[in-house]
Amino acid sequence: LQGKLSIGVGNGISIHNSSFSVCLDPKKASNCDYTFVSHAHIDHIHKPNGKSKIIASRETTKLAKERGYDLGDTNEGAHGMDFFDSGHIFGSKAVLVKDSVFYTGDISVRNRGFLKGCRGVKCGTLIMETTYGKPRYVFPNTEQVIADANRFISRCFDSCRPVILTGYPLGKAQLISRLFDSWEPMFLHESVYKMNSAHIELGVKLKDHERFSDSESNEQTLKRSPWILIAPTSSRKSNSIELMRRKYGAAVAAFTGWAMDPSYAHLMNLDAAFPLSDHSDFIELVELAKYCDPSMIYTMHGFAGEFAAHLRSIGFEAEALSESKFQSKLTSYA
Ligand SMILES: [Zn+2]
Repeated sequence: LQGKLSIGVGNGISIHNSSFSVCLDPKKASNCDYTFVSHAHIDHIHKPNGKSKIIASRETTKLAKERGYDLGDTNEGAHGMDFFDSGHIFGSKAVLVKDSVFYTGDISVRNRGFLKGCRGVKCGTLIMETTYGKPRYVFPNTEQVIADANRFISRCFDSCRPVILTGYPLGKAQLISRLFDSWEPMFLHESVYKMNSAHIELGVKLKDHERFSDSESNEQTLKRSPWILIAPTSSRKSNSIELMRRKYGAAVAAFTGWAMDPSYAHLMNLDAAFPLSDHSDFIELVELAKYCDPSMIYTMHGFAGEFAAHLRSIGFEAEALSESKFQSKLTSYA
């Protein structure tokens, strides 16, 4: 018998039980016995104050540090909690607390490149992310997306046009530099180079592509024949990408689940957008819920309300976790 657990929402999600408390992905330092950092995306890391034991994978610890977040001495495990690769980015974890509450963090069920998908685990309560929890977000299979992107690159190369492939600097950028590494020459934007190097140090097999240099001595070489640059999404609208687009006639493509929106490429001023995501799509989220088969589901991120409604319509108990609504409410169950 597990005894009573309670879930609170505020600074992240906290779970309290008779033997310990744990805070999941808080925005600021927590007072719980443990603090779980699921992965190294900025919206999931915080600056610890030393009062709570930090639990994070060694990959997350290193990647966070590279991004300027020192998590201190982290533990990879703790009694009463089981950890699973969540398949979202390298080192990302999901956690099962006391064989009862499963928190997915950001999760992908698909195998892609060096990442293996996560199918979940049987649990009493499921706390799941629902970034793409709307029926229109059903992604094509990954091989199809890769084939489409390769055709796009090939067409550009045929007309001697360089290609800039963009994605989040941590996660997506490593994945696309791996998936398209048969194209040469491939260069990496500074921020991507830094994250790729950290992955290589941690044992991921990535080619060590050159850092992109737009120096005068390089300019003629870059103008002579096509190349690929992997760059962060955040710099998509920045001058450097626009400048290269004009200077070298480069085509710009993005890799994101939002590419399922037909107007995405146009709105973002892209030549192409490919639906390659580090999250699960709508159908995969439903499958995940079914596989975990919980008696209660809490949804968070993205279309949390709509997805909870869908879960209820197919027979689950489900509710969206919203901070304002749940701030003071504690949900208890046996
Ligand atoms: Zn993430």
